[in-house]
Amino acid sequence: MSKKLTSRTEDYSKWYNELVVKADLAENSAVRGCMVIKPYGYAIWEKMQAELDKMFKETGHQNAYFPLFVPKSLFEAEEKNAEGFAKECAIVTHYRLQNDPDRPGKLRVDPDAKLEEELIVRPTSEAIIWNTYKGWIQSYRDLPLLINQWANVVRWEMRTRLFLRTAEFLWQEGHTAHATKAEALVEAKLMNSVYATFAEKFMAIPVIQGVKTESERFAGADETYCIEALMQDGKALQAGTSHFLGQNFAKAFDVKFANKEGKQDYVWATSWGVSTRLMGALIMTHSDDKGLVLPPSLAPNQVVIVPIYKSEDELEAVSRVAHAIMGDLRSKNISVKYDNRDTQRPGAKFALYELQGVPLRIAIGARDLENGTVELARRDTLTKEVVALEGLNDRVESLLVDIQSSLYNKALHFRDSHITEVDTFEDFKTVLETKTGFISAHWDGTPETEEKIKELTKATIRCIPLEGNVESGVCVYTGKPSKQRVLFAKAY
Ligand code: AMP
Repeated sequence: MSKKLTSRTEDYSKWYNELVVKADLAENSAVRGCMVIKPYGYAIWEKMQAELDKMFKETGHQNAYFPLFVPKSLFEAEEKNAEGFAKECAIVTHYRLQNDPDRPGKLRVDPDAKLEEELIVRPTSEAIIWNTYKGWIQSYRDLPLLINQWANVVRWEMRTRLFLRTAEFLWQEGHTAHATKAEALVEAKLMNSVYATFAEKFMAIPVIQGVKTESERFAGADETYCIEALMQDGKALQAGTSHFLGQNFAKAFDVKFANKEGKQDYVWATSWGVSTRLMGALIMTHSDDKGLVLPPSLAPNQVVIVPIYKSEDELEAVSRVAHAIMGDLRSKNISVKYDNRDTQRPGAKFALYELQGVPLRIAIGARDLENGTVELARRDTLTKEVVALEGLNDRVESLLVDIQSSLYNKALHFRDSHITEVDTFEDFKTVLETKTGFISAHWDGTPETEEKIKELTKATIRCIPLEGNVESGVCVYTGKPSKQRVLFAKAY
Protein backbone atom coordinates (compact mmCIF):
# COMPACT_ATOMS: atom_id res chain seq x y z
CA MET A 1 0.00 0.00 0.00
CA SER A 2 1.18 3.49 -0.75
CA LYS A 3 1.64 5.87 2.14
CA LYS A 4 -1.24 7.17 4.22
CA LEU A 5 -3.54 9.96 3.13
CA THR A 6 -2.79 13.49 4.23
CA SER A 7 -5.16 14.12 7.15
CA ARG A 8 -8.15 16.45 6.78
CA THR A 9 -6.98 18.77 9.52
CA GLU A 10 -3.53 19.03 7.98
CA ASP A 11 -4.72 20.03 4.51
CA TYR A 12 -8.32 19.39 3.54
CA SER A 13 -7.85 20.13 -0.11
CA LYS A 14 -4.78 17.90 -0.39
CA TRP A 15 -6.68 15.16 1.45
CA TYR A 16 -9.49 15.41 -1.10
CA ASN A 17 -7.21 15.29 -4.13
CA GLU A 18 -5.25 12.35 -2.77
CA LEU A 19 -8.35 10.46 -1.80
CA VAL A 20 -9.97 10.77 -5.24
CA VAL A 21 -6.86 9.34 -6.87
CA LYS A 22 -5.94 6.70 -4.28
CA ALA A 23 -9.46 5.35 -3.93
CA ASP A 24 -9.35 4.89 -7.71
CA LEU A 25 -12.27 7.18 -8.44
CA ALA A 26 -10.74 9.49 -11.05
CA GLU A 27 -7.53 11.04 -12.25
CA ASN A 28 -6.37 14.05 -14.20
CA SER A 29 -5.97 13.52 -17.92
CA ALA A 30 -3.81 14.79 -20.75
CA VAL A 31 -6.52 17.39 -21.38
CA ARG A 32 -6.35 20.42 -19.14
CA GLY A 33 -9.26 20.46 -16.70
CA CYS A 34 -10.75 17.20 -17.96
CA MET A 35 -10.76 14.06 -15.85
CA VAL A 36 -10.73 10.35 -16.44
CA ILE A 37 -13.40 8.71 -14.32
CA LYS A 38 -12.08 5.28 -13.36
CA PRO A 39 -14.25 2.16 -13.10
CA TYR A 40 -14.78 2.41 -9.33
CA GLY A 41 -15.75 6.07 -9.55
CA TYR A 42 -17.93 5.41 -12.56
CA ALA A 43 -19.71 2.59 -10.75
CA ILE A 44 -20.78 5.06 -8.05
CA TRP A 45 -21.89 7.58 -10.68
CA GLU A 46 -23.92 4.85 -12.41
CA LYS A 47 -25.72 4.12 -9.14
CA MET A 48 -26.54 7.81 -8.78
CA GLN A 49 -27.76 7.92 -12.37
CA ALA A 50 -29.95 4.87 -11.90
CA GLU A 51 -31.72 6.32 -8.84
CA LEU A 52 -32.14 9.77 -10.34
CA ASP A 53 -33.34 8.35 -13.63
CA LYS A 54 -35.98 6.37 -11.79
CA MET A 55 -37.11 9.46 -9.94
CA PHE A 56 -37.31 11.49 -13.16
CA LYS A 57 -39.42 8.81 -14.82
CA GLU A 58 -41.68 8.52 -11.78
CA THR A 59 -42.34 12.26 -12.12
CA GLY A 60 -43.35 11.84 -15.77
CA HIS A 61 -40.15 12.63 -17.65
CA GLN A 62 -38.69 10.83 -20.65
CA ASN A 63 -35.09 10.67 -21.83
CA ALA A 64 -33.93 11.95 -25.22
CA TYR A 65 -30.66 13.04 -26.75
CA PHE A 66 -29.66 16.26 -28.50
CA PRO A 67 -26.44 17.21 -30.35
CA LEU A 68 -23.16 18.08 -28.66
CA PHE A 69 -22.73 21.12 -30.93
CA VAL A 70 -24.78 24.28 -31.01
CA PRO A 71 -24.54 26.51 -34.11
CA LYS A 72 -23.39 29.94 -32.99
CA SER A 73 -26.50 31.69 -34.35
CA LEU A 74 -28.70 29.49 -32.16
CA PHE A 75 -26.41 29.85 -29.19
CA GLU A 76 -26.66 33.63 -29.25
CA ALA A 77 -30.45 33.73 -29.70
CA GLU A 78 -31.22 33.98 -25.98
CA GLU A 79 -28.93 36.88 -25.21
CA LYS A 80 -28.62 36.62 -21.46
CA ASN A 81 -27.87 32.91 -21.61
CA ALA A 82 -25.29 33.42 -24.36
CA GLU A 83 -23.63 36.27 -22.52
CA GLY A 84 -23.50 34.26 -19.29
CA PHE A 85 -21.69 31.36 -20.89
CA ALA A 86 -19.65 33.26 -23.52
CA LYS A 87 -16.46 33.33 -21.48
CA GLU A 88 -16.37 29.55 -20.98
CA CYS A 89 -17.09 28.26 -24.48
CA ALA A 90 -15.09 25.84 -26.59
CA ILE A 91 -15.67 26.61 -30.27
CA VAL A 92 -15.28 24.37 -33.32
CA THR A 93 -14.05 26.33 -36.30
CA HIS A 94 -12.71 23.65 -38.71
CA TYR A 95 -13.65 20.15 -39.73
CA ARG A 96 -10.49 18.70 -41.28
CA LEU A 97 -6.75 18.23 -40.76
CA GLN A 98 -4.09 17.79 -43.44
CA ASN A 99 -0.39 16.90 -43.64
CA ASP A 100 1.75 19.79 -42.48
CA PRO A 101 4.26 20.63 -45.27
CA ASP A 102 6.63 22.21 -42.70
CA ARG A 103 6.61 19.29 -40.26
CA PRO A 104 6.81 15.92 -41.99
CA GLY A 105 4.58 13.27 -40.41
CA LYS A 106 2.54 15.88 -38.52
CA LEU A 107 -0.86 17.38 -39.13
CA ARG A 108 -2.26 20.87 -39.26
CA VAL A 109 -5.71 22.39 -39.61
CA ASP A 110 -6.76 22.50 -43.27
CA PRO A 111 -7.31 26.23 -43.89
CA ASP A 112 -9.81 25.33 -46.62
CA ALA A 113 -11.94 23.37 -44.19
CA LYS A 114 -13.29 26.30 -42.22
CA LEU A 115 -16.88 25.84 -41.08
CA GLU A 116 -19.33 28.30 -42.56
CA GLU A 117 -20.83 28.69 -39.14
CA GLU A 118 -18.88 28.09 -35.98
CA LEU A 119 -20.18 25.47 -33.57
CA ILE A 120 -20.21 25.89 -29.82
CA VAL A 121 -19.57 22.78 -27.76
CA ARG A 122 -22.65 22.84 -25.51
CA PRO A 123 -22.05 24.36 -22.06
CA THR A 124 -25.79 23.70 -21.53
CA SER A 125 -28.42 22.74 -24.10
CA GLU A 126 -31.31 25.20 -23.85
CA ALA A 127 -30.53 26.72 -27.26
CA ILE A 128 -30.40 23.53 -29.32
CA ILE A 129 -33.35 22.06 -27.41
CA TRP A 130 -35.62 25.07 -27.70
CA ASN A 131 -34.81 25.33 -31.38
CA THR A 132 -35.99 21.69 -31.64
CA TYR A 133 -39.08 22.23 -29.45
CA LYS A 134 -40.27 24.81 -31.97
CA GLY A 135 -41.08 21.90 -34.28
CA TRP A 136 -42.63 19.79 -31.53
CA ILE A 137 -45.03 22.24 -29.93
CA GLN A 138 -48.04 23.70 -31.74
CA SER A 139 -50.95 23.32 -29.38
CA TYR A 140 -51.76 23.00 -25.70
CA ARG A 141 -52.19 19.28 -26.45
CA ASP A 142 -48.43 19.03 -26.98
CA LEU A 143 -47.85 20.29 -23.43
CA PRO A 144 -46.40 19.71 -20.96
CA LEU A 145 -43.27 18.40 -22.66
CA LEU A 146 -41.12 16.72 -20.02
CA ILE A 147 -37.69 15.72 -21.33
CA ASN A 148 -34.39 14.82 -19.71
CA GLN A 149 -31.03 14.21 -21.32
CA TRP A 150 -27.97 12.45 -19.87
CA ALA A 151 -24.95 14.04 -21.47
CA ASN A 152 -21.56 15.68 -21.19
CA VAL A 153 -21.10 19.45 -21.36
CA VAL A 154 -18.07 21.69 -21.60
CA ARG A 155 -17.45 24.86 -19.65
CA TRP A 156 -13.92 26.19 -20.01
CA GLU A 157 -13.30 26.60 -16.30
CA MET A 158 -10.01 28.18 -15.31
CA ARG A 159 -9.62 26.66 -11.86
CA THR A 160 -10.58 23.02 -11.96
CA ARG A 161 -10.74 20.18 -9.42
CA LEU A 162 -11.60 16.53 -9.93
CA PHE A 163 -15.39 16.10 -9.87
CA LEU A 164 -16.10 19.47 -8.23
CA ARG A 165 -15.32 21.66 -11.17
CA THR A 166 -14.07 20.23 -14.42
CA ALA A 167 -14.01 21.64 -17.95
CA GLU A 168 -15.97 18.70 -19.29
CA PHE A 169 -18.47 17.12 -16.91
CA LEU A 170 -21.22 14.56 -17.03
CA TRP A 171 -24.69 15.57 -15.98
CA GLN A 172 -28.34 15.33 -16.69
CA GLU A 173 -30.32 18.29 -17.90
CA GLY A 174 -34.09 18.39 -17.77
CA HIS A 175 -35.84 20.72 -20.19
CA THR A 176 -39.57 21.13 -19.86
CA ALA A 177 -42.22 23.17 -21.64
CA HIS A 178 -45.56 24.22 -20.11
CA ALA A 179 -48.74 26.05 -20.99
CA THR A 180 -48.76 28.26 -17.92
CA LYS A 181 -46.40 30.13 -15.68
CA ALA A 182 -47.84 28.48 -12.61
CA GLU A 183 -47.28 25.02 -14.01
CA ALA A 184 -43.65 25.77 -14.93
CA LEU A 185 -43.02 27.14 -11.46
CA VAL A 186 -44.47 24.00 -9.90
CA GLU A 187 -42.18 21.91 -12.10
CA ALA A 188 -39.04 23.90 -11.24
CA LYS A 189 -39.77 23.54 -7.51
CA LEU A 190 -40.74 19.88 -7.85
CA MET A 191 -37.45 18.96 -9.51
CA ASN A 192 -35.51 20.87 -6.90
CA SER A 193 -37.27 18.83 -4.25
CA VAL A 194 -36.54 15.63 -6.20
CA TYR A 195 -32.86 16.59 -5.97
CA ALA A 196 -33.22 17.24 -2.25
CA THR A 197 -34.85 13.85 -1.73
CA PHE A 198 -32.14 12.13 -3.73
CA ALA A 199 -29.37 13.87 -1.80
CA GLU A 200 -30.91 13.03 1.56
CA LYS A 201 -32.21 9.54 0.93
CA PHE A 202 -29.47 8.10 -1.24
CA MET A 203 -26.40 10.26 -0.69
CA ALA A 204 -27.14 10.75 3.02
CA ILE A 205 -26.42 14.45 2.54
CA PRO A 206 -28.72 16.98 4.21
CA VAL A 207 -29.39 19.91 1.93
CA ILE A 208 -31.04 23.29 2.19
CA GLN A 209 -33.49 24.13 -0.55
CA GLY A 210 -33.49 27.72 -1.55
CA VAL A 211 -33.64 30.37 -4.23
CA LYS A 212 -30.56 32.05 -5.66
CA THR A 213 -30.17 35.81 -5.58
CA GLU A 214 -30.31 37.63 -8.89
CA SER A 215 -26.55 37.76 -9.22
CA GLU A 216 -26.13 34.01 -8.64
CA ARG A 217 -28.99 33.09 -10.96
CA PHE A 218 -28.54 30.92 -14.06
CA ALA A 219 -28.04 33.08 -17.15
CA GLY A 220 -31.41 33.30 -18.88
CA ALA A 221 -33.48 32.21 -15.88
CA ASP A 222 -36.13 34.26 -14.06
CA GLU A 223 -35.57 32.22 -10.90
CA THR A 224 -33.02 29.60 -9.86
CA TYR A 225 -33.86 27.09 -7.13
CA CYS A 226 -31.01 25.14 -5.62
CA ILE A 227 -29.93 22.63 -3.06
CA GLU A 228 -26.96 23.66 -0.95
CA ALA A 229 -24.87 21.27 1.11
CA LEU A 230 -22.15 21.84 3.68
CA MET A 231 -18.84 20.05 3.36
CA GLN A 232 -16.75 18.88 6.34
CA ASP A 233 -14.35 21.80 5.99
CA GLY A 234 -17.23 24.23 6.51
CA LYS A 235 -17.48 25.32 2.89
CA ALA A 236 -20.79 25.18 1.05
CA LEU A 237 -21.35 23.33 -2.20
CA GLN A 238 -24.11 24.00 -4.71
CA ALA A 239 -25.24 20.46 -5.33
CA GLY A 240 -28.05 20.97 -7.83
CA THR A 241 -30.07 23.68 -9.55
CA SER A 242 -33.52 23.97 -11.06
CA HIS A 243 -34.43 26.98 -13.15
CA PHE A 244 -37.70 28.68 -13.94
CA LEU A 245 -36.92 30.13 -17.37
CA GLY A 246 -40.12 32.12 -17.86
CA GLN A 247 -40.84 32.64 -21.56
CA ASN A 248 -37.28 33.73 -22.31
CA PHE A 249 -36.32 30.78 -24.48
CA ALA A 250 -39.76 30.51 -26.08
CA LYS A 251 -39.44 34.13 -27.17
CA ALA A 252 -35.85 33.71 -28.36
CA PHE A 253 -36.79 30.66 -30.46
CA ASP A 254 -40.33 31.70 -31.26
CA VAL A 255 -41.98 28.69 -29.64
CA LYS A 256 -45.72 29.43 -29.46
CA PHE A 257 -48.71 27.23 -28.88
CA ALA A 258 -52.42 27.58 -29.44
CA ASN A 259 -54.11 27.57 -26.04
CA LYS A 260 -57.55 26.08 -25.34
CA GLU A 261 -59.20 29.27 -26.54
CA GLY A 262 -57.26 29.04 -29.80
CA LYS A 263 -55.06 32.02 -28.94
CA GLN A 264 -51.30 31.94 -29.57
CA ASP A 265 -49.05 32.24 -26.55
CA TYR A 266 -45.38 31.69 -25.77
CA VAL A 267 -44.48 28.50 -23.91
CA TRP A 268 -43.18 28.55 -20.32
CA ALA A 269 -39.96 26.68 -19.54
CA THR A 270 -37.80 25.07 -16.89
CA SER A 271 -34.41 23.41 -16.90
CA TRP A 272 -32.63 21.55 -14.11
CA GLY A 273 -29.38 19.71 -13.63
CA VAL A 274 -27.05 17.81 -11.37
CA SER A 275 -23.57 16.77 -12.38
CA THR A 276 -20.58 14.64 -11.49
CA ARG A 277 -19.98 17.36 -8.89
CA LEU A 278 -22.27 15.20 -6.72
CA MET A 279 -19.36 12.74 -6.49
CA GLY A 280 -17.34 15.50 -4.87
CA ALA A 281 -20.18 16.23 -2.47
CA LEU A 282 -20.43 12.57 -1.52
CA ILE A 283 -16.70 12.31 -0.84
CA MET A 284 -16.45 15.53 1.14
CA THR A 285 -19.50 14.88 3.29
CA HIS A 286 -18.70 11.44 4.70
CA SER A 287 -15.10 10.40 4.15
CA ASP A 288 -12.37 10.32 6.79
CA ASP A 289 -8.59 10.15 7.10
CA LYS A 290 -8.59 6.47 6.18
CA GLY A 291 -10.42 7.07 2.92
CA LEU A 292 -13.82 7.02 1.38
CA VAL A 293 -16.96 6.36 3.42
CA LEU A 294 -19.88 5.42 1.19
CA PRO A 295 -23.55 5.30 2.08
CA PRO A 296 -24.79 1.75 1.40
CA SER A 297 -27.37 3.04 -1.09
CA LEU A 298 -24.66 4.14 -3.50
CA ALA A 299 -21.82 1.73 -2.72
CA PRO A 300 -20.94 -0.46 -5.73
CA ASN A 301 -20.14 -3.22 -3.21
CA GLN A 302 -22.08 -2.99 0.00
CA VAL A 303 -20.23 -5.90 1.55
CA VAL A 304 -16.79 -7.37 0.92
CA ILE A 305 -15.72 -10.79 2.16
CA VAL A 306 -12.04 -11.36 2.88
CA PRO A 307 -10.79 -14.91 3.57
CA ILE A 308 -8.03 -15.43 6.11
CA TYR A 309 -6.17 -18.68 5.57
CA LYS A 310 -2.84 -20.40 5.82
CA SER A 311 -3.30 -23.31 3.44
CA GLU A 312 -5.16 -24.21 0.28
CA ASP A 313 -7.43 -26.44 2.33
CA GLU A 314 -8.32 -23.62 4.67
CA LEU A 315 -9.05 -21.36 1.73
CA GLU A 316 -11.31 -23.99 0.25
CA ALA A 317 -13.24 -24.40 3.48
CA VAL A 318 -13.54 -20.62 3.95
CA SER A 319 -14.61 -20.20 0.31
CA ARG A 320 -17.48 -22.62 0.77
CA VAL A 321 -18.83 -20.51 3.60
CA ALA A 322 -18.15 -17.30 1.68
CA HIS A 323 -20.09 -18.52 -1.34
CA ALA A 324 -23.02 -19.51 0.82
CA ILE A 325 -23.03 -16.05 2.44
CA MET A 326 -22.82 -14.38 -0.97
CA GLY A 327 -25.78 -16.37 -2.25
CA ASP A 328 -27.84 -15.40 0.79
CA LEU A 329 -26.94 -11.72 0.63
CA ARG A 330 -27.53 -11.48 -3.11
CA SER A 331 -30.95 -13.02 -2.67
CA LYS A 332 -31.69 -10.00 -0.48
CA ASN A 333 -30.40 -7.66 -3.19
CA ILE A 334 -27.28 -6.84 -1.22
CA SER A 335 -24.22 -6.42 -3.42
CA VAL A 336 -21.24 -8.40 -2.24
CA LYS A 337 -17.73 -9.03 -3.46
CA TYR A 338 -15.53 -11.96 -2.45
CA ASP A 339 -11.86 -11.04 -2.61
CA ASN A 340 -9.99 -14.33 -2.70
CA ARG A 341 -6.97 -13.01 -4.59
CA ASP A 342 -3.84 -14.74 -3.38
CA THR A 343 -1.65 -11.90 -4.57
CA GLN A 344 -2.64 -9.65 -1.64
CA ARG A 345 -2.45 -10.25 2.11
CA PRO A 346 -5.60 -9.73 4.21
CA GLY A 347 -4.12 -6.59 5.80
CA ALA A 348 -3.65 -5.00 2.39
CA LYS A 349 -7.21 -5.95 1.41
CA PHE A 350 -8.59 -4.45 4.63
CA ALA A 351 -6.74 -1.20 3.89
CA LEU A 352 -7.96 -1.17 0.29
CA TYR A 353 -11.63 -1.57 1.21
CA GLU A 354 -11.28 1.00 3.94
CA LEU A 355 -9.83 3.38 1.35
CA GLN A 356 -12.65 2.55 -1.06
CA GLY A 357 -15.36 2.95 1.56
CA VAL A 358 -17.04 -0.46 1.37
CA PRO A 359 -19.69 -0.16 4.12
CA LEU A 360 -19.30 -3.65 5.62
CA ARG A 361 -16.41 -6.10 5.67
CA ILE A 362 -16.77 -9.74 6.57
CA ALA A 363 -13.58 -11.59 7.45
CA ILE A 364 -13.65 -15.37 7.77
CA GLY A 365 -10.74 -17.39 9.21
CA ALA A 366 -10.11 -20.96 10.38
CA ARG A 367 -11.28 -20.18 13.91
CA ASP A 368 -14.52 -18.74 12.58
CA LEU A 369 -15.13 -21.98 10.72
CA GLU A 370 -14.81 -23.90 13.98
CA ASN A 371 -17.04 -21.49 15.88
CA GLY A 372 -19.61 -20.89 13.18
CA THR A 373 -18.87 -17.14 13.24
CA VAL A 374 -17.49 -14.33 11.11
CA GLU A 375 -15.93 -10.98 11.92
CA LEU A 376 -18.07 -8.07 10.77
CA ALA A 377 -16.52 -4.59 10.48
CA ARG A 378 -18.30 -1.30 9.84
CA ARG A 379 -16.49 1.22 7.68
CA ASP A 380 -18.24 4.30 9.06
CA THR A 381 -17.48 3.72 12.74
CA LEU A 382 -14.50 1.38 12.22
CA THR A 383 -16.01 -0.95 14.80
CA LYS A 384 -15.82 -4.73 14.66
CA GLU A 385 -17.89 -7.55 16.09
CA VAL A 386 -17.84 -11.31 15.93
CA VAL A 387 -21.24 -12.60 14.89
CA ALA A 388 -22.78 -16.02 14.38
CA LEU A 389 -23.18 -17.25 10.84
CA GLU A 390 -26.73 -18.00 11.67
CA GLY A 391 -28.73 -14.84 11.28
CA LEU A 392 -25.82 -13.08 9.51
CA ASN A 393 -28.10 -12.08 6.66
CA ASP A 394 -30.46 -10.15 8.87
CA ARG A 395 -27.60 -8.61 10.81
CA VAL A 396 -25.98 -7.35 7.58
CA GLU A 397 -29.28 -6.05 6.28
CA SER A 398 -30.05 -4.10 9.44
CA LEU A 399 -26.49 -2.79 9.72
CA LEU A 400 -26.66 -1.40 6.19
CA VAL A 401 -29.85 0.44 7.07
CA ASP A 402 -28.22 1.68 10.25
CA ILE A 403 -25.09 2.89 8.44
CA GLN A 404 -27.20 4.75 5.88
CA SER A 405 -29.17 6.57 8.55
CA SER A 406 -26.27 7.24 10.88
CA LEU A 407 -24.25 8.80 8.06
CA TYR A 408 -27.17 11.08 7.35
CA ASN A 409 -27.66 11.95 11.01
CA LYS A 410 -23.98 12.66 11.52
CA ALA A 411 -23.91 14.95 8.48
CA LEU A 412 -27.14 16.62 9.63
CA HIS A 413 -25.75 17.25 13.09
CA PHE A 414 -22.59 18.71 11.59
CA ARG A 415 -24.56 20.89 9.19
CA ASP A 416 -26.99 22.15 11.82
CA SER A 417 -24.22 22.92 14.28
CA HIS A 418 -22.55 24.97 11.56
CA ILE A 419 -25.37 27.39 10.89
CA THR A 420 -24.79 30.49 12.95
CA GLU A 421 -27.19 33.39 13.21
CA VAL A 422 -25.43 36.74 13.34
CA ASP A 423 -26.79 40.25 13.61
CA THR A 424 -23.72 42.43 13.26
CA PHE A 425 -21.03 42.61 10.61
CA GLU A 426 -18.33 42.21 13.27
CA ASP A 427 -19.84 38.89 14.32
CA PHE A 428 -20.24 37.97 10.68
CA LYS A 429 -16.50 38.28 10.08
CA THR A 430 -15.55 36.55 13.32
CA VAL A 431 -17.80 33.56 12.71
CA LEU A 432 -16.54 33.23 9.18
CA GLU A 433 -12.98 33.04 10.41
CA THR A 434 -13.40 30.93 13.51
CA LYS A 435 -16.36 28.67 13.00
CA THR A 436 -16.93 28.35 9.24
CA GLY A 437 -20.19 26.94 7.85
CA PHE A 438 -23.34 28.83 6.97
CA ILE A 439 -24.07 32.24 8.39
CA SER A 440 -27.72 33.11 8.67
CA ALA A 441 -28.06 36.87 8.45
CA HIS A 442 -30.32 39.64 7.27
CA TRP A 443 -29.53 41.25 3.92
CA ASP A 444 -31.12 44.32 2.37
CA GLY A 445 -31.88 42.54 -0.92
CA THR A 446 -29.56 44.57 -3.15
CA PRO A 447 -26.84 43.17 -5.44
CA GLU A 448 -24.57 46.02 -4.30
CA THR A 449 -24.57 44.90 -0.67
CA GLU A 450 -24.18 41.27 -1.70
CA GLU A 451 -21.16 42.22 -3.82
CA LYS A 452 -19.64 44.37 -1.08
CA ILE A 453 -19.91 41.57 1.48
CA LYS A 454 -18.36 39.16 -1.00
CA GLU A 455 -15.50 41.55 -1.63
CA LEU A 456 -14.82 42.03 2.07
CA THR A 457 -15.26 38.46 3.28
CA LYS A 458 -15.27 36.09 0.24
CA ALA A 459 -18.62 34.82 1.53
CA THR A 460 -21.47 34.68 -0.98
CA ILE A 461 -25.18 34.31 -0.52
CA ARG A 462 -25.72 30.61 -1.07
CA CYS A 463 -29.47 30.87 -1.08
CA ILE A 464 -32.59 32.41 0.31
CA PRO A 465 -34.01 29.36 2.11
CA LEU A 466 -37.47 28.26 0.95
CA GLU A 467 -38.55 27.34 4.43
CA GLY A 468 -38.52 29.18 7.70
CA ASN A 469 -36.53 32.21 8.72
CA VAL A 470 -39.30 34.68 7.89
CA GLU A 471 -38.77 37.51 10.35
CA SER A 472 -38.10 41.18 9.98
CA GLY A 473 -34.71 42.57 10.81
CA VAL A 474 -32.00 44.83 9.49
CA CYS A 475 -29.22 44.10 7.01
CA VAL A 476 -25.95 43.14 8.75
CA TYR A 477 -24.01 45.42 6.46
CA THR A 478 -26.20 48.45 5.66
CA GLY A 479 -28.72 48.38 8.49
CA LYS A 480 -31.55 48.68 5.98
CA PRO A 481 -34.73 46.68 6.60
CA SER A 482 -34.93 43.00 5.65
CA LYS A 483 -37.77 40.47 5.72
CA GLN A 484 -35.81 37.25 5.83
CA ARG A 485 -32.48 35.82 6.82
CA VAL A 486 -30.38 34.43 3.99
CA LEU A 487 -27.51 31.94 4.10
CA PHE A 488 -24.00 33.15 3.46
CA ALA A 489 -20.91 30.93 3.20
CA LYS A 490 -17.60 30.51 1.55
CA ALA A 491 -18.25 28.04 -1.20
CA TYR A 492 -16.65 25.65 -3.63
P1 AMP B 1 -26.12 25.12 -14.02
O1 AMP B 1 -26.51 24.70 -15.40
O2 AMP B 1 -25.06 26.18 -14.04
O3 AMP B 1 -27.27 25.47 -13.16
O4 AMP B 1 -25.42 23.86 -13.35
C1 AMP B 1 -26.08 22.64 -13.22
C2 AMP B 1 -25.34 21.75 -12.27
O5 AMP B 1 -24.01 21.48 -12.73
C3 AMP B 1 -25.20 22.36 -10.90
O6 AMP B 1 -25.55 21.38 -9.98
C4 AMP B 1 -23.76 22.73 -10.78
O7 AMP B 1 -23.34 22.59 -9.46
C5 AMP B 1 -23.08 21.76 -11.71
N1 AMP B 1 -21.88 22.34 -12.33
C6 AMP B 1 -21.74 23.59 -12.85
N2 AMP B 1 -20.50 23.77 -13.34
C7 AMP B 1 -19.81 22.62 -13.13
C8 AMP B 1 -18.47 22.16 -13.40
N3 AMP B 1 -17.58 22.95 -14.01
N4 AMP B 1 -18.13 20.89 -13.04
C9 AMP B 1 -19.03 20.09 -12.44
N5 AMP B 1 -20.30 20.46 -12.15
C10 AMP B 1 -20.70 21.70 -12.49
